[in-house]
Amino acid sequence: MKMRSHTKLKHILIIGVAFVELFLFSQYKAHDAVIHFFLHSLAGVNAALLIFITLSLQKRPSRNFIFWAFTLHQYAMLPDYLYQAGSPHQPWMNVFLGHVFLDNLSYHEWILSGLAVFLGTVYLSLTNKAFHNTPKEETT
Ligand SMILES: [Zn+2]
Repeated sequence: MKMRSHTKLKHILIIGVAFVELFLFSQYKAHDAVIHFFLHSLAGVNAALLIFITLSLQKRPSRNFIFWAFTLHQYAMLPDYLYQAGSPHQPWMNVFLGHVFLDNLSYHEWILSGLAVFLGTVYLSLTNKAFHNTPKEETT
């Protein structure tokens, strides 16, 4: 019973995150800035992957990846919310996962996508048993 309500809560969380992300995507699209939506999403995902890699190296694996990726995505996009509120981008806003730096970097989406694939592979290799060299039972 407890397990079921936990799963239900997780599904509600995922649906909630999906709705918020879709809404934000539509806002960025309306401002012709879809690339920035993905750019800062990738920054959030990469930061979440770094946290999860660190946790699994410390043998403290966490399971709330969507929560962390979502939260860090929001954190990375804060300067854009401030921009909407009338505050232009300033160098100090790089504390938001390098927001201003990434906005001005060439090939930023390719660099961040490559990094996400790399970090994702590292994380999977640390956590997924399929990547581990499990010796088969000796029959001889
Ligand atoms: Zn921005």
